Amino acid sequence: MPKGPRFIFVIGGVMSGIGKGIASASTARILKSKGFNTTCVKIDPYLNVDAGTMNPVEHGEVFVTEDEMETDQDIGNFERYLDENILSDNYMTSGAVYLAVIENERSLKYSGACVQPIPHIPEEVIRRLNLVAKKTKADFILVEIGGTAGEYENLLFLEAARMMHLKSPESVMFMLISYFPIPSKIGEMKTKPTQHAVRALNSAGIQPDFIIARSIVPLDEPRKKKLSIFCNVRPEDIISAPDIDNIYQVPLNFEKENLGNKILKKFGIQERKRDLEEWGKMVKRATSSKKEINIGIVGKYFGTGKFTLSDSYLSVIEAIKHACWSFSVQPNILWLDAEVYENNPAKVKEELGALDGVIVPGGFGTRGVEGKIKAINFARKNKKPYLGLCYGMQLAVIEFARNVAGMTGAHTTEVNKKTKYPVIDLMSEQKEKVFAGKMGGTMRLGAYACRLKDKTIARKAYGERTIYERHRHRYEFNNALQNVLEAKGLITSGINPESGLVEIIELKDHPFFMGTQFHPEFKSRPLDPHPLFREFIKSCLNSRKSK
Ligand code: GLN
Repeated sequence: MPKGPRFIFVIGGVMSGIGKGIASASTARILKSKGFNTTCVKIDPYLNVDAGTMNPVEHGEVFVTEDEMETDQDIGNFERYLDENILSDNYMTSGAVYLAVIENERSLKYSGACVQPIPHIPEEVIRRLNLVAKKTKADFILVEIGGTAGEYENLLFLEAARMMHLKSPESVMFMLISYFPIPSKIGEMKTKPTQHAVRALNSAGIQPDFIIARSIVPLDEPRKKKLSIFCNVRPEDIISAPDIDNIYQVPLNFEKENLGNKILKKFGIQERKRDLEEWGKMVKRATSSKKEINIGIVGKYFGTGKFTLSDSYLSVIEAIKHACWSFSVQPNILWLDAEVYENNPAKVKEELGALDGVIVPGGFGTRGVEGKIKAINFARKNKKPYLGLCYGMQLAVIEFARNVAGMTGAHTTEVNKKTKYPVIDLMSEQKEKVFAGKMGGTMRLGAYACRLKDKTIARKAYGERTIYERHRHRYEFNNALQNVLEAKGLITSGINPESGLVEIIELKDHPFFMGTQFHPEFKSRPLDPHPLFREFIKSCLNSRKSK
């Protein structure tokens, strides 16, 4: 194989939200299945330096990498499809790139040159992409550029891609993911919007090598031919990507049209066999499991309607699915609005009573907190399997302190600074950061070690003594109150060996009651479901059986 990394830029056309991330991740999975070292990069055009300062309703889940970066949810997709950790080098925003260029300018790194959007911004992008190539030693790097062709915001990223292609056309390729609407009154698939998207790309100096055609149904031959002429792409390089039931089917669908070998051929690399056997088995389990279990997620990011929900809690949903499929069952996920529970105990009983398990995921601030605590109280007393993730763990400690340990008014200082029992509190280093207004990228982030105690659910689930999980929070279990809470029956089953901070709590005399200060959902993979989610789902299935 000729030397050096190959870059495949993935660009969107017509509209957003059509699965650029999944298409990039799926193409990467295919190339990996052919034995190539493959990685993915996401470039986001907004000015936030990272995704950490954005509301999840606005932009979807904030994903956290092992090495402390708060990123777009697509990095999570890349990890799930590649079954590998993706590190912070593989994520950049306009904000991060501009900041680096301006900081360089301030420290005279440009030797007196006039620093300009072109070429200095694209050059910084190219430097970062080459760094990824160097560090990962990848044969293929899929680079997903956020936004769509024709937008102002991502022009300088397209310019970087164009410059890389100019320098080394044999190692750079472009893939357009575009949408083909079928207007209901016309009843015919329309290719014109995509023709415009290709024109917009052409005017940025880019000609797509492949077009991935997203639509309700596959593209037919006459349309492929037409598109081919108008867009200057061979008909065989237009790949149909019709809507599917399960996102993990996409690599298999792309391979029906032999995308992997078509890519290799264009790069002048010998074709190779793929090995998607294990992947195919997973997809089969996922799509053929019919038996359902009811899992409730008690949250608050319900502001903009149902459509955003699955994005705000994407990794949690995926982790539930991975675990369920490993038991050949299908999750029926119910969205439960915590605020409704605050003054309505009957609703708690009615909604939670019908569930097989309850999850309170991560969250921030005051809204919905008392409702979540009510839900946790119900799960504890009625022996419903409960999994609390980050805020869900902190609120479980508060519920226990108030209602079992008799600490009336116990709280987190995030909500009540004057509580008599601050069972969840800011660590001193966090106090300094918050006081100085340094909020972006300063939470406790990324992977930390956690030592598990013997004879706990966590120890049994992981099978290991020391585990590493990813964090994203400012507040912590207050160790000053640890002994009192333990004396009342709270089990602190996982402790950070360096700081002594409590990372996992459990309860005795309950089939499954667990809270984790970290976010296990970030490390669940379809081919390797997370042990805690597996244990949780197992317990949901058991409690269903015993009903
Ligand atoms: N708000 C809590 C904290 O900052 C929990 C954060 C979370 O759930 N990710 O500690």
